Amino acid sequence: MICPFCSRNNDRVVDSRESRDGATIRRRRECLECQRRFTSYEQIEAIPYLVVKTDGRREEFNRGKLLSGLLRACEKRPIPARHHEDIVAEIEKKLHLKEEREISTREIGATVMQKLRELDAVAYVRFASVYRRFEDLGAFVEEVQSLLNEPEGTEESTAGGDSDMETPSGTADLG
Ligand SMILES: [Zn+2]
Repeated sequence: MICPFCSRNNDRVVDSRESRDGATIRRRRECLECQRRFTSYEQIEAIPYLVVKTDGRREEFNRGKLLSGLLRACEKRPIPARHHEDIVAEIEKKLHLKEEREISTREIGATVMQKLRELDAVAYVRFASVYRRFEDLGAFVEEVQSLLNEPEGTEESTAGGDSDMETPSGTADLG
């Protein structure tokens, strides 16, 4: 490191300490030219999480982008805002568990769709149609068909528990 007193670059580290949260390293240095001491702080570089696209390209994971895609799919649907946050948090949790710091768009999409499917059929189909546009169209059509063929309101929505849910029949106007 360049000495702040004499501007020469010849020092030795006399002491090295990590901050309590482990994000910064403080080093006490002694300049071997002028013998004065100074302190340097090193920030551990935040390594971004990456999203792996179907063609293998990587791009930085962007929480805001995921959230806005989700909001677009859920536009005008009776889905409380906290559910969007919960879905994004779920993806982040998965990502943080990955040692390789990467997640595929496929896995993100599958997780989001699984969650949306439980919440709102319309939002689910909207998201799926965008997400799967360049993927397997056949699989998507099958998925929608199976959704449409599901007997109305029998399974899954067995009322009870969740007292903060206002109207569990939010998807009744699907036809
Ligand atoms: Zn010096």
